[in-house]
Amino acid sequence: MSRPLYGIFGASGCGRGVMPLAREQLGEETVATDRLVFIDDAAGPERVNGHRLLSYAAFLALPASERFVCVAIAGSLVRQNIVARCEADGVLPWSVCAANAVVMDDVSIGDGVILCPFVTLTSNIRIGRHFHANLYSYVEHDCVIGDYVTFAPGVKCNGNVWIDDHAYIGAGAVIRQGTPGLPLKIGAGAVVGMGAVVTREVPPGAVVVGNPARPMKK
Ligand code: UDP
Repeated sequence: MSRPLYGIFGASGCGRGVMPLAREQLGEETVATDRLVFIDDAAGPERVNGHRLLSYAAFLALPASERFVCVAIAGSLVRQNIVARCEADGVLPWSVCAANAVVMDDVSIGDGVILCPFVTLTSNIRIGRHFHANLYSYVEHDCVIGDYVTFAPGVKCNGNVWIDDHAYIGAGAVIRQGTPGLPLKIGAGAVVGMGAVVTREVPPGAVVVGNPARPMKK
C-alpha cells in the first residue's frame, strides 16, 4: 500500500531552513522511510542534508497515496508559478509550522504557509495562502495579510495593518499600527526595505526604505 509523500520545493536557503521544521512536524516514521524530500528544478547532489533531492517529474513518478508540497522559495511570483504547477497535477498544498510558533485566538490562515521558529501571530488575524513568516517575525491583532506575502526575519507588523498580495517586507522592518477604522495599508507587490520604519500607507508596487520609510529614489 502506498503512503503519502511530502516535498519541500526549493533546496536553496529558504528550503534548507524549512526542512528541519517539516521533519519535526511529520515525525520520525516519515523521515525514516524517505518520504520527505526536496524538489528542485535545478540539478544538484543526490541528497541535501540527508533528504533525497528530486526533480519535480521524479517526485510525481514516485508511488504515493497523496502528494503534499510546501513551496519554500522566497520569490513570491516563482512561488505562485510552482503552486499552479502543483495544483494542475493534483499535488496538495502543505503548510509547515515551527513547533514553537505561537498562534493565538481567531487566526485564519490559508494553505501552504510557512511559519518559522519564534513567529507569533496574535489574535483576530486573517492571512491568505502561501504566506512566509521568517524567523522572529510577528503579526499583531486585527491584521489582514493577502496571498504570497513574504516576511524576511524579524518583521514587526503591528495591529490593524493590511498587507496586500505579493508584498515583500524586508528583515527587521517595523510597520506602525493602524486603527480599527483606518488600517495602515501596504499595497500589492510593494517592497519594504530591511530595517525600514513604515509610518504611512505604501502604494501598490512601491519600494520604500529608511526611517521613516520613503519611496526609493530611482
Ligand atoms: N527554483 C525552482 N524552480 C523555479 C525557480 C526556482 O526549482 O521555477 C529553485 C532554484 O533552483 C533554487 C531555489 O528554487 O534552488 C531558489 O533559491 P534562491 O536561493 O533563489 O532563493 P531562496 O531559497 O532564498 O528562496
